[in-house]
Amino acid sequence: MLTLKNVTKSYQVGDFMQNALNGVSLSFRKQEFVAILGPSGSGKTTLLNMVGGLDRYDSGDLIIEGKSTLHFDDNDWDAYRNHAVGFIFQSYNLITHTSVLANVELGMTLSGLSHEDRTARALEVLEGVGLKDHVYKKPNQLSGGQMQRVAIARAIANNPDIVMADEPTGAIDSETSAQIMALIQEIAKNKLVIMVTHDEALAHKYADRVVKLKDGEVIEDSNPYSDAQEVQGSLLLKKTSMAFKQALKLSFNNLRTKKFRTLITAFAGSIGIIGVAMVLALANGLNNEIDDLERSTLAQFPLQIDPFPIDIEAAQGNFGPPGPQMDDGGFVEFPEAREVYPFEATVSENQHINVITQDYLSFLDTLDPDLYFEINAEYDVRMPLLLREAESQFRGVDQGGGGVDFEPTVTSEEFLSQSYDVIDGRLPDNANELLLVVDQANRLNIRFFEALGLSFEVESYSFDTLYDLELYTFLPNDYYLENADTGRFIPSGDYESIVQAGDGIPLRIVGVARESADSLAGFIDQGIKYHPDLEELYIDAAKTSDIALAQAESSISVITGRELSEQQKVGVLRQLGYDDTPTQILIYPVDFNAKTEIRNALDAYNEPLPDDEQIIYTDLAALVTDLTGDLINGVSYVLIAFSSISLLVSSIMIGIITYVSVLERTKEIGILRSLGARKKDVSRVFNAETTIIGFTAGLIGVGIAFILTFPLNLLIESLVDGIDGLAQLSFLAAISLVLISVFLTFVAGLIPSRIAANKHPVEALRVE
Ligand code: ADP
Ligand code: MG
Repeated sequence: MLTLKNVTKSYQVGDFMQNALNGVSLSFRKQEFVAILGPSGSGKTTLLNMVGGLDRYDSGDLIIEGKSTLHFDDNDWDAYRNHAVGFIFQSYNLITHTSVLANVELGMTLSGLSHEDRTARALEVLEGVGLKDHVYKKPNQLSGGQMQRVAIARAIANNPDIVMADEPTGAIDSETSAQIMALIQEIAKNKLVIMVTHDEALAHKYADRVVKLKDGEVIEDSNPYSDAQEVQGSLLLKKTSMAFKQALKLSFNNLRTKKFRTLITAFAGSIGIIGVAMVLALANGLNNEIDDLERSTLAQFPLQIDPFPIDIEAAQGNFGPPGPQMDDGGFVEFPEAREVYPFEATVSENQHINVITQDYLSFLDTLDPDLYFEINAEYDVRMPLLLREAESQFRGVDQGGGGVDFEPTVTSEEFLSQSYDVIDGRLPDNANELLLVVDQANRLNIRFFEALGLSFEVESYSFDTLYDLELYTFLPNDYYLENADTGRFIPSGDYESIVQAGDGIPLRIVGVARESADSLAGFIDQGIKYHPDLEELYIDAAKTSDIALAQAESSISVITGRELSEQQKVGVLRQLGYDDTPTQILIYPVDFNAKTEIRNALDAYNEPLPDDEQIIYTDLAALVTDLTGDLINGVSYVLIAFSSISLLVSSIMIGIITYVSVLERTKEIGILRSLGARKKDVSRVFNAETTIIGFTAGLIGVGIAFILTFPLNLLIESLVDGIDGLAQLSFLAAISLVLISVFLTFVAGLIPSRIAANKHPVEALRVE
């Protein structure tokens, strides 16, 4: 069955080589009870470990079932130990943190038996050694003799062909020893049992054969055997491996015995996670808040098509002739000389100019009307606004100086209701109706009253006073009179006649709208707003008015008589309504999604056009939220970097704690290896341990962070109005953080677990 051929083994102790085995040749039968006798230090244990595959010989050969082991690799030895050999040690070598049953099952889990088979077999052998009633106890709840019975049960559980026992009764009183010996004798009935002892009497009483060792040499053999006649058997060993689940279970049991330490470790490990989680929760909340703002309130911010669209890059260009030069950060150098530099503030060459064409206007007409409340075109046309104070007494309402903003209003009630409350009357319905817009306290700038010639000494005016204002505008052909001599046009002055002739356009305020509390102030300026139809009607008439046609023919202003440059003339023609190209277009989307769709359509329009013909729009809302979002993300990255330091520190700490655990569990490592566990299986046990700690740390961290968001949100609520439930830990972030925690602790545990895997089994077993 087993043959040792001239086997030697020596240990290096400092400079000195200690010979433990000095050319041992021995053969064992398939079934016999061999006792190895010899004084302490004679090499008995070394021989046993060699034969059991726990240790390697230096030279010679060990032949198992006729097969040389010279070319065995680690896996072969692991499989041999697991399937063919059972070990019984003097110090029992049981794993103290699992039950008796689990101890006995351990070797079988490595050979891949099913759970049911394992338990059934373990119960069977435990019953065989008389421990039926103790299977769920922990080993340290048993007496020495009982523990050795557990070890015996474990050794034979996998039904090995060979059982090795190293002084099995060395720590047991003589009466119990006899029972243990009887058990081993029973086992030897159909197995090869090799037992090391220094007790001559015991050896002779129970063993079939006694081999004596001295100084690493066989000096006596009571029943020598030569296996020459033995057939060359074939050794078939199934490879062993531990399922990760089993490793997890083993680690979990171990961690359970030191709950407090595990919890403290996991808690320490969780601190970094808490930090990162809180930052993520806050950033997430802030970004959501901004998104909400963009989606709700800001979504109604119109898409703006301006003549000169905002172009941040172009704004940073250099202007004018040589002199102090600017770059992104301001002036590159400040001049030292006592000189002044003339420069011309021109529009940058890079400034894009939107040339709104008829084609573009028709394209806007094709947009799905469900996507927007309104599309408002603004024109440069100047409509006269006059107030009829009494019969034949008209007053030109000064529209300059911010007194009265005489502008078209958005007519969509649905849209207006987002930022304005119509507090009296109604919205304008047609070209004759006006809307008055006041601020949140129903106030209007003094200059408004100034422009209308109303005293502002008066504390307040009733709405009715304002509704009663008789405002008029007049079409150019009615308003202007041509002086036949000079060819110049002047306002008629006799407005009463126009009104009496029914040619004036009466304008009446029909409602008052007030900025709502959460409106974005300045969105629509305060003052008098007219219905867009009015402008349309006016431009229609103005286009072909005498004054417009006359101006179109002349390079001299038909009003002032001054010479006009080409550019000035374009401006004047726009003011006169001859040129009805809008200067600005505002598109009011119904909601955020609609805005996205409109943006896509506008982009698609530009797509085939050369750069200078493209119409560039400005999405102020997106500009604002993008900038804010960038800022939040920037700050978050910095904060995450800070909290990551604690994450790193805790990972290192977990690595150290795992290393301590490896040291503490060295014996267990030896036991696992003696049962046939591969190096990989041992590292798995520790990797499983760090995985559990990392997972726990992740859960604790995420849990605490989640709980902390509540007081944090309360604090934020008390500090900032209108923001509640700001910090929100997203599910995805929570999951990711747990995974990161597992990953980091796993990585931190790799080195300790590798150290564990590389421990020499024999030395590991020797550790107390
Ligand atoms: P026994 O079991 O018969 O008491 P051992 O086989 O344990 O003897 O040891 C045989 C000899 O080898 C002893 O001299 C012992 O000191 C030495 N020895 C055993 N293991 C080691 C080791 N790991 N390192 C150094 N010397 C060792
Ligand atoms: Mg020994």
